[in-house]
Amino acid sequence: MKILVVNAGSSSLKYQLIDMETEKVIAKGGCERIGIEGSLLKAKGNGKEKVFTQPMPNHKVAIELVLNALKDEEVGVIKSMEEIDAVGHRMVASGEYFNKTTLVTEEVIKTLEEKTFELAPLHNPPAVTGLRACMEVMPGTPMALVFDTSFHATMPEKAYLYGIDYEDYKNFGVRKYGFHGTSHKFVSAEAAKYLGKKPEELKIVTCHLGNGSSISAVDGGKCVDTSMGFTPLAGILMGTRSGDIDASAVEFLARKKGMTHAEVINYLNKKCGVAGISGVSSDFRDLIAGAKKGNARCKLALDMFAYQTKKYVGSYAAAMGGLNCIVFTAGIGENTPTVREAVCDGLQFLGVKLNKQANKAKNDGSIREISAKNSKVKVLVIPTNEELVIARETAELL
Ligand code: AMP
Repeated sequence: MKILVVNAGSSSLKYQLIDMETEKVIAKGGCERIGIEGSLLKAKGNGKEKVFTQPMPNHKVAIELVLNALKDEEVGVIKSMEEIDAVGHRMVASGEYFNKTTLVTEEVIKTLEEKTFELAPLHNPPAVTGLRACMEVMPGTPMALVFDTSFHATMPEKAYLYGIDYEDYKNFGVRKYGFHGTSHKFVSAEAAKYLGKKPEELKIVTCHLGNGSSISAVDGGKCVDTSMGFTPLAGILMGTRSGDIDASAVEFLARKKGMTHAEVINYLNKKCGVAGISGVSSDFRDLIAGAKKGNARCKLALDMFAYQTKKYVGSYAAAMGGLNCIVFTAGIGENTPTVREAVCDGLQFLGVKLNKQANKAKNDGSIREISAKNSKVKVLVIPTNEELVIARETAELL
């Protein structure tokens, strides 16, 4: 069985074709600048890479080009589209309308459009545009929606509610939904496998630390709390997102900076986080290089990031009444030993003991145990694979 995984943004469309017998990626790539001048498709397959520069006025043309690239004589890996058994689409927000992977029907799309677009205006509308384009080009091929939020659907009310008027939660759906669910699900399940335990036996804190970062408490295989909220702006400070901030400061900032509500939210999403604190970059490689050269604000940004992550680990250990394992994943979690060390430093009281040498070892793409042999809490680095989760869930649904 071959599953095509599609992740559509407003001007981009990333894809992977996965062979489910081996779970290997047999082709991957992405379209950039859809609807903008200079569109291009970078496609990999057969161990080769090819760049197609062709106008892509919309997502339909983009998906047609992807399907042609999959059949291309150089980078192609299939002979006909019939070889693709199903398509799994990444969808960011589900609201309270979908709590699991869902087969696409017209009614499902209507619910997405009417109920979820306002919850995730930057993410869901382009994903549905990509979905509709796929349905047009591949009529008859089953399509599944895999939501970033599904894994968090098990959170109890006390964890997902904000302290607002309960009726406003009921009427408007204002609550914590969480994001990166496919990643938290994947790495927590991989951790259990690695440790040779059943998920039910473990209390795990998963730290997805990338340009967007979120931390989850996974108790017995189920998510019981997570750091992102109503939108991905909440939680720890990130590449360019502020993370949690007093709502009154938002109104104050808008007034001082002469911004509308939408402008100040855009500012908090795009101009803040470690980029705003350092004044240098959102990329941790630049921050580490800056801190090494003595840039105090780069060091401050790194300190804040590790401090806030550490506080979530501690609070989630308290929420679960124990901690067996901490998992680091995503760009920063997988590649930045200094951040992992700073997060773990001070958690000795919980039974966390890092093996500093193992922590510094190079990322070879495998699961790595970086805690000391006698550490009560296992600390693991696990490469995330959100596309594989999407493919697996799509295959399961079929
Ligand atoms: P992600 O959103 O998961 O792709 O993570 C992106 C972030 O990971 C980048 O902004 C970098 O800060 C960080 N990152 C990726 N690779 C490395 C690396 N080799 N060393 C340090 N940081 C890295």
